[in-house]
Amino acid sequence: MNDLSSTACVFCAIASGTGDASLVYEDPLLIGFLDINPVNEGHLLIAPKSHVQDLADLPPETLAAMATLAQRLAAGLRLSGLRCEGVNLFYADGEAAGQEVFHSHLHVIPRYDGDPFQITADWDSPPSRSTLDRHADLIREALYSRS
Ligand code: 5GP
Ligand code: ZN
Repeated sequence: MNDLSSTACVFCAIASGTGDASLVYEDPLLIGFLDINPVNEGHLLIAPKSHVQDLADLPPETLAAMATLAQRLAAGLRLSGLRCEGVNLFYADGEAAGQEVFHSHLHVIPRYDGDPFQITADWDSPPSRSTLDRHADLIREALYSRS
C-alpha cells in the first residue's frame, strides 16, 4: 500500500468507513458503491479496500474477484427496477485512459436504449490486415518477453 496516496484517497476513506458512500456490497477484500456522479442511475463502482493505483499492481486474484462481483452486481442492476437493459464494464488505467481517481476501480454502468452515455472514436477507417498483424506481432513479442 502507498501510505502517501491512501491518506488523501477518497476511495480509501470510503473503504475505511470515514468517507460517505452509498454502499451496495462489502467483503474483506472489496467494496461496491454508487458513483457520486452517475452516467445513468445505478452506476456502480467496485474497488479493492487496499490502496492500489495501477492495473499492473492489482493482484490478479483481486482483479478476478472484482470481475466476479461485477457479474453479480450487473445481475442485481437488471433486477433492481432501475432502468437497465444492458451493462458496460469500464476500467480506466492511467490518466490518458480517463482515470480520475487514482485508486483502482471498475465501473458497472447500467445502459438502456437512447441513454446519454457515449463512447466516441473514429470507427470509420479500419486498418488493413497487415497493420493489424504488425500490431499483433508487437504485442505478442512484448507478452512473451516479460516472463
Ligand atoms: P475514473 O475516471 O477514475 O475511472 O472514475 C472515477 C469515478 O469516481 C467518477 O465516475 C466519479 O464520479 C467517481 N467519484 C469521484 N469521487 C467520488 C466520491 O467521493 N464518491 C463516489 N461515490 N464516487 C466518486
Ligand atoms: Zn485509495
